[in-house]
Amino acid sequence: MSGTLYIIAAPSGAGKTSLVKALLEREPDIALSVSYTSRMPRASEIDGQHYHFVSRQVFEHMAEAGAFFEYANVHGDYKGTARAAVEPLLAAGRDVLLEIDWQGAQQVRAQWPESLSIFILPPSRAELERRLRHRASDSAEQIARRIADSRIEIGHAAEFDFIVINDDFATAINDLRSIFAARRLRCEAQLNRHASLLDDLLKPA
Ligand code: 5GP
Repeated sequence: MSGTLYIIAAPSGAGKTSLVKALLEREPDIALSVSYTSRMPRASEIDGQHYHFVSRQVFEHMAEAGAFFEYANVHGDYKGTARAAVEPLLAAGRDVLLEIDWQGAQQVRAQWPESLSIFILPPSRAELERRLRHRASDSAEQIARRIADSRIEIGHAAEFDFIVINDDFATAINDLRSIFAARRLRCEAQLNRHASLLDDLLKPA
């Protein structure tokens, strides 16, 4: 049986990256896909860890060659998930997490309908904008663009299977973990995992 493909999306400033980091420390069996991007790295970002940073030309070449599972133009830069980062892991039964935008989420649902998608919302617009303005790495122009783009992203929240509000961090983490736990306990997965238990329980007296 193949692994589960999880999608997490959010407007910039909802706290998604910190949530995902904390989540994966608690769920070490879930593999995080490292995306490709044509965006310039921020000072704190490491190539191969936060993203694979490539030129626009290389990105477009990869897209033409069909190397991407999904890709989109996000805030003016290309971002994409390589097939090689996802398909072999799922085939080997591993669970994979994609941190992507609504456009990528639509593409993934179309080709992997059994994926599970989660949207993270901030507790208020004021808090979203406060978090974005406090991110020292972005220019005033980038911040304005992200604030404008956040309305577009949030407009797609209803397409997701689950919505988590990131007000209290610990509560948001618990909510996310409950979603993973529920997915693992689904009938199909449990029957597979516990086939011999079921055989045993059904044995004639
Ligand atoms: P950043 O702040 O890193 O420039 O941009 C983050 C935004 O890009 C988020 O909305 C995030 O979900 C999106 N993103 C990151 N990687 C990918 C990807 O591989 N595919 C898509 N479609 N969006 C991505």
